[in-house]
Amino acid sequence: MTRIAIVEGDGIGREVIPVARRVLELLHPEYEYFDVDVGYGRWERTGCPCTDPDIAELKTADAILFGAVTTPPMKDYQSVVLRIRKALDLYANLRPVKNDRFDIMIVRENTEGLYSGIEELTPDRATTLRIVSRKGSERIARKAIDLARQRNGLLTIGHKANVIKSDVFFRDICLAEAKSAGVPCNDKFIDALSLDILQFPEKYSVVVTTNMFGDILSDVAAYLVGGLGLVPSANIGDRFALFEPVHGSAPDIAGKNIANPIAAVRSVSMLLDYLGDSPGAMAVETSVRHVLRQGICTRDMGGIAGTREFGDALVQVLR
Ligand code: NAD
Repeated sequence: MTRIAIVEGDGIGREVIPVARRVLELLHPEYEYFDVDVGYGRWERTGCPCTDPDIAELKTADAILFGAVTTPPMKDYQSVVLRIRKALDLYANLRPVKNDRFDIMIVRENTEGLYSGIEELTPDRATTLRIVSRKGSERIARKAIDLARQRNGLLTIGHKANVIKSDVFFRDICLAEAKSAGVPCNDKFIDALSLDILQFPEKYSVVVTTNMFGDILSDVAAYLVGGLGLVPSANIGDRFALFEPVHGSAPDIAGKNIANPIAAVRSVSMLLDYLGDSPGAMAVETSVRHVLRQGICTRDMGGIAGTREFGDALVQVLR
């Protein structure tokens, strides 16, 4: 029996995930679904945002559908999503940004870099350790190379090797892996890449980069397809996988039924692909496009449909 963990999380996670779940349950009523409650809301209620038993429960799932969690900027609060990515060793964060004109897969290293969590705060200095390991770089490079090969596409390495030594290390490992795999590859400074990807998106196929650069680049690239409400992601490791929209909990619009559920629904499409149901994954993508062609969309895309109403239209098309 395929088991799916559902984590709504906080803010609009509690609105977009119910829509995504309806889609998934419609296509796969035979899966077993179970909820795991983690996040800031849980912390407010219980004083703990995520426990060891929560992590153990997540590990029992074949795939996790995740909304978003609020991470308040407090010194002692540890990000739940970072904890899960580390605990499940979800080292590859795949963030597709595509439309009819271009198809880019941003491959972000997901477990180290500036999000290593090794930090020190003193009254006079704050330090964050940016770890770039050989193992971490090799495995993310190989994942990106596999994807480039599947697409017959170019691999681009995003880095800042002109000023950061750990990026010289990262770039050289990626270049060596690409060379030995025989995959066409180039590299670009991350700042120049951020503009170039907006101006000439059709030049790119697979972009591999370190943790924080990938986080920022994918938000920047979301501009190309209409914003954060549209971009899904997969967090993949060797044993576990978690699927979530790229956006966060969006407290500014939470509770108003105006969040765009497409990123969450497309995350279901990535989840189905991962579980081997490619026709289901394709059906989800096609249905989203079909609903949009009917002129039904949420406010961020210039429409008037609410989150739930978009979900109703989508479910009708899928049926
Ligand atoms: P955000 O992605 O939540 O929101 C950024 C902007 O995009 C906001 O104006 C929001 O209204 C808009 N937006 C986001 N998703 C949308 C959607 N589906 N439909 C329409 N508009 C949408 O980023 P933020 O405001 O920087 O962060 C808010 C909280 O989310 C923070 O606590 C942050 O730590 C957290 N966060 C969590 C994750 C995660 O759980 N993976 C990721 C990013 C941010």
